[in-house]
Amino acid sequence: METFDYVIVGAGSAGSVLANRLSEDGGTTVCVLEAGPRDWHPYIHLPAGFIKTFHMKSVNWAYQQEPGPYTGGRSIYAPRGKTLGGSSSINGHIYNRGQRQDFDTWAQMGNRGWGYADVLPYFKRMEKRVGEGDDEFRGREGPLTVTTMEWRDPLCEAFMAGAISLGIPRNPDYNGKIQEGVSYAQRTIQNGLRMSAAKAFLHPARKRPNVNVRTHAHATNIVFEGKRAVGVRYLRGGKGGTPVEVRANREVILSGGAYNSPQVLQLSGVGSPDLLQSHGIEVRHALPGVGEGLQDHYAPRSVARVKNIRTINELRQGWHLWVEALKWATTRRGLLSLSPTMVYCFWHSGETTESSDLQITFTPASYKEGVQGALEDLPGMTCTSWQQRPESRGYVRIRSSDPFAPPIIQTNYLTAELDRRVVVAGMKLARRLLKSEPLAPYYEYEDFPGPKVQSDDELLAAATQRATTTFHPGCTCRMGPADSTWAVVDDQLRVHGLQGLRVIDASVMPRMISANLNASTLMIADKASDLIRGKNAPEAVRLAS
Ligand SMILES: Cc1cc2nc3c(=O)[nH]c(=O)nc-3n(C[C@H](O)[C@H](O)[C@H](O)COP(=O)(O)OP(=O)(O)OC[C@H]3O[C@@H](n4cnc5c(N)ncnc54)[C@H](O)[C@@H]3O)c2cc1C
Repeated sequence: METFDYVIVGAGSAGSVLANRLSEDGGTTVCVLEAGPRDWHPYIHLPAGFIKTFHMKSVNWAYQQEPGPYTGGRSIYAPRGKTLGGSSSINGHIYNRGQRQDFDTWAQMGNRGWGYADVLPYFKRMEKRVGEGDDEFRGREGPLTVTTMEWRDPLCEAFMAGAISLGIPRNPDYNGKIQEGVSYAQRTIQNGLRMSAAKAFLHPARKRPNVNVRTHAHATNIVFEGKRAVGVRYLRGGKGGTPVEVRANREVILSGGAYNSPQVLQLSGVGSPDLLQSHGIEVRHALPGVGEGLQDHYAPRSVARVKNIRTINELRQGWHLWVEALKWATTRRGLLSLSPTMVYCFWHSGETTESSDLQITFTPASYKEGVQGALEDLPGMTCTSWQQRPESRGYVRIRSSDPFAPPIIQTNYLTAELDRRVVVAGMKLARRLLKSEPLAPYYEYEDFPGPKVQSDDELLAAATQRATTTFHPGCTCRMGPADSTWAVVDDQLRVHGLQGLRVIDASVMPRMISANLNASTLMIADKASDLIRGKNAPEAVRLAS
């Protein structure tokens, strides 16, 4: 049987960083198991290819969530990357770290070494920031290129002028000292091409002889000897494929993402005994927090019809698209280099709110049913708003003992009263932004939620009918002290009560952060690589309060 020092399940954002860092020392062997294919498809690398990979089942798990109390009976689509780079190969390229308060809260929840001052050096070590930014907060020499959207569009400019007219300041760097304000989006794009975690971390590592990456390798369960994880079983070729077992001398690391890491744990007999027994799975280790605590951002997308100017909706039609294709081929710029959102705005829902609890994005385009998968034909602009730190929590639970059955995903959006209030406040702000004076020459009428929707109850009903995920599931294997009822891993990301097993990906976040999750997931993996190797952490940054 083949044996490696580390076996990593999942070559996504976290898995890619780990494969790179753990193999830096040429003496350590690393095997990475990835259920999806190589990331060869051109739509992965072309930024605007996002709209295609969004539904492309060959590189996407394409999950459906369960209907919840505030989804109007809808089962919301939940894409997830299934290829090298994982979700970072199909995401919207936005680079957003979150606020100082997010990580300080993680530390306050009993996780030593995860406060902002501790994690900032890892954010800096990882990135190569091109453009504006204070070097106290930004890194310039890391493998992950972060650029600022360079497309300049009169609608985006007018939106930002509108935000400023409402008292929201222009912020040159929302990943710097302060998040609040409005600016063009920062992106993981380099020379007009996606900078996925695979590109930044995994592909360079694959060139090393001590790294073995296996695609079409669907992990079905962890192999244990007593309470120690000693290997992983997978099916080579996926469903119906050949069963293979690989052994881990040192550790098994689950980096399957917020839906699949808890699924693999549950399939391996680690989780709530009631759940496991109901599917005939022998309980290896009772750990009720596995899969519980799921959080995500829930976003209504406000849309206005546009006049007197062309939006992206028309630019991608007919001969315009050929011009744009030529532009991209020759300059790596233009429409095909765009991300689904172009302007970012962070603000607060009330005067007493201490730090921005609303994230708002703008794009001079509109989508069928509000979701990024397909552009509309009529000219439109979209202002998406969401609550940054929701309180509602849901779960991920296996549907059966079949490793190929999609897990049950129940996010329970808006079940907390605060979440309903903040989401309604976000819709009101989105409406004010779209109706601002600088946008008036282009604003034709409100398409969603529509002028008849005015009261808080009506706005909430509209959100219930149309809001969707912003694709940020986390918190399903939460990091916390052993004596808590909810924690799955400790602050070294070791699974409580077991040996030789860690979870390292977005699922370990104890609480949702005020950001899209790619940057912080990469940071978690980078920090974890030092924890695993027993390396000293970079010195915590001393920040003036
Ligand atoms: C459509 C979309 C848009 C997004 N937009 C943004 C954005 O603009 N900015 C941002 O910051 N974040 C964005 N995100 C979120 C962000 O990309 C993710 O939070 C982040 O990539 C999660 O990293 P991860 O390592 O936890 O999981 P993933 O990157 O999803 O990696 C998990 C990997 O494990 C593999 N895997 C799972 N189960 C198994 C198994 N049983 N056996 C073998 N392999 C397995 C998967 O195929 C996958 O490759 C978006 C996500 C999506 C889906």
